[in-house]
Amino acid sequence: MLAEIITVGDELLTGNTVDSNSAYIAQRLTEKGFWVRRITTVGDDVKEIENAVREAISRKPEVLIISGGLGPTHDDVTMLGVANAIGRKLKLCEDCLERIKEFYEELHRKGLIDDPTLNEARKKMAYLPEGSEPLNNTEGAAPGAYVEYEGVKIFILPGMPREMKAMLESEVLPRLGERKFVQKKFLAEITDESKLAPILEDTIERFKVKIHSSPKGFGKYIGIIIFAEDDEVIGKVIRYIEGKGIKFREGW
Ligand code: ATP
Ligand code: MG
Repeated sequence: MLAEIITVGDELLTGNTVDSNSAYIAQRLTEKGFWVRRITTVGDDVKEIENAVREAISRKPEVLIISGGLGPTHDDVTMLGVANAIGRKLKLCEDCLERIKEFYEELHRKGLIDDPTLNEARKKMAYLPEGSEPLNNTEGAAPGAYVEYEGVKIFILPGMPREMKAMLESEVLPRLGERKFVQKKFLAEITDESKLAPILEDTIERFKVKIHSSPKGFGKYIGIIIFAEDDEVIGKVIRYIEGKGIKFREGW
C-alpha cells in the first residue's frame, strides 16, 4: 500500500516550474488506496536520479512513480539514472522507435515541424532500462517505462503534465488495481487544533485509521479527512469523535 514519487527537473528546483505533477500523482494514488510516504525532487542529473531511485527502492514501497526528463534533449537523463540504480543497461525498444518515427512524421504532415528525420536526439527516447515494458504516450513522443525491481513496481513517466496525466490514467493505474478504501472530509466545529489532537491520536490508535487535520474557514473550523477501509469504519470513527464532544458538519 505504500508509494513514493520522484519528480525530476532543474526547473522544479529553481522554482521556475511549480511541481504540480507530484501533487496530481499523490492525489490519484491516495484515491486508489495507497499511502504516499515520500515525494522527492531532484535535478536533471544522472547521479542524483540514480541515488534518489536507489534510496526509494531501499524503503521498499509497493510503487515508485518517477516523472520528468524523458525528452530528446541532452539533459533528459531519467531513463539512464533509473537503469543505473537497478543495475541494468539501456536497451533500444524497436517498437518505441517506430512509434517515435510515426509521431514526428505526423507532426511534419500537419506542418508543425520542418524536419521529421529520426535524428540521434529523437532516437534517444527509444532507449529504456533493459527488461522494462514500454508505456504508450498518447500525447507526446517519449514512451514511458514500467519495470519491477526487488518487489517495487517502478513507473517512469514524462514531465509534461498533459502527457504524464494521460499515461498515469491509461498505463499506470490499471496495472495497480483497486484497493478498498474510503476517504471522507468533514469540518469540526472547534477552533483549537491542540484540543483536538489528543482525541484524534486516540481515535487513530483505536480504529487503525489515518486522519489528517488542518485549520479551515479563517480559524472557525478544523478540516478533517478520515481514511478508512469502508463507510462502516468511517461511521464508527465519527460517532466515537462526536462522543468526545466534537461537532461535525459536512464540507471542506
Ligand atoms: P519533454 O519530452 O517535453 O522534454 P520530459 O519528460 O523530458 O518531456 P521535462 O523536460 O522534465 O519532461 O519537462 C517538460 C516540461 O514539463 C517542463 O518544462 C515543465 O514545464 C513541465 N514539467 C516537468 N515536470 C513537471 C512537474 N513535476 N510539475 C509540473 N510541470 C512539470
Ligand atoms: Mg525535457
